[in-house]
Amino acid sequence: MFKVKEKIKKLERAISILSENERECRLCPRSCKVNRAKERKGFCKTGNNAIVAYSGLHFGEEPPISGYYDYPMTDKSLKKGSGTIFFTGCNLKCTFCQNYQISWEMKGREISDEELADLMLSLQDKKALNINLVSPTHLIIPILRALKIAYNKGLSIPVVYNSNAYESLEVIKNLNGIVDIYLPDLKYFNPETSEKYAQARDYFQVATKIIKEMYEQVGDLRFENGYAVKGLIIRHLVLPGHIKETFKILEWIYNNLSEKAWLSIMSQYKPCFKASGPLERKLRREEYEIVLKKVEDLGFENVFIQSEFLNDDEHLVPDFTKEEPFKWPEVRKDKSI
Ligand code: SF4
Repeated sequence: MFKVKEKIKKLERAISILSENERECRLCPRSCKVNRAKERKGFCKTGNNAIVAYSGLHFGEEPPISGYYDYPMTDKSLKKGSGTIFFTGCNLKCTFCQNYQISWEMKGREISDEELADLMLSLQDKKALNINLVSPTHLIIPILRALKIAYNKGLSIPVVYNSNAYESLEVIKNLNGIVDIYLPDLKYFNPETSEKYAQARDYFQVATKIIKEMYEQVGDLRFENGYAVKGLIIRHLVLPGHIKETFKILEWIYNNLSEKAWLSIMSQYKPCFKASGPLERKLRREEYEIVLKKVEDLGFENVFIQSEFLNDDEHLVPDFTKEEPFKWPEVRKDKSI
């Protein structure tokens, strides 16, 4: 599937280019210019080492990422799981974040590059389909160092970059040939909305440039034995009261990428943390159906939807104070269209 030596070479190059950010961080568009070796005063509040909140097999990602999960387990061979590593801190920090315990409240444990590499290898030992880096943006340098160690020790499964798309173009260009599957969000369209909920007026402008670059690098999703090995899936969480923005986002994808681009349209919004205004309620089923009709009218061919209308709180919001933060049975996404 890939040549390890080539990956290691690319990792070494990326580490050498990006490491100057440790002294003056511009790893994301916040461009805080802080010395992360000395202090954690940037927007993401992290230093030079990775901080991990949770690592384990995850069964709620899109089917070719997580594997098909059959519950209750009637066919054990179906259980695969994505090898998720949830990083603490965030460079976007949406006010309604369902992972606020780790993105805002910084729950997690600081670990060395070697420990992070061992986590990756232990996920591979557990038969994970991939290494799924969740919110990697602000910790990309220790992640790259750990990947290098892990490849030298036998890591061989695809790497998934699961991010909010509020990224530096330079960083993403340096991940070419390192990341196998990009799983970016495309969250907001209006600058006022992204300013209000994430203090990032330029979100759409930045994220669309980043997603174009990701698409150029990896293209449409490719599979081996039914599981994704390379490509791009764009995620969009439909927000209550913001359907017109969702339409604009879908139109942008259609006009700028392709009707073949893989989408994941999520219905699972639930007010969390500091959700305010229209976001103080759950998404209505009618809103989600209107969005799905638009997806169909535009002619997208590859769309994951949450067919069970997933906003029953008990199953959706992970609790990172628990050893197993997720409850799997209700969390699944199906391919549609
Ligand atoms: S990664 Fe963190 S410190 Fe660096 S620019 Fe982004 S928010 Fe600021």
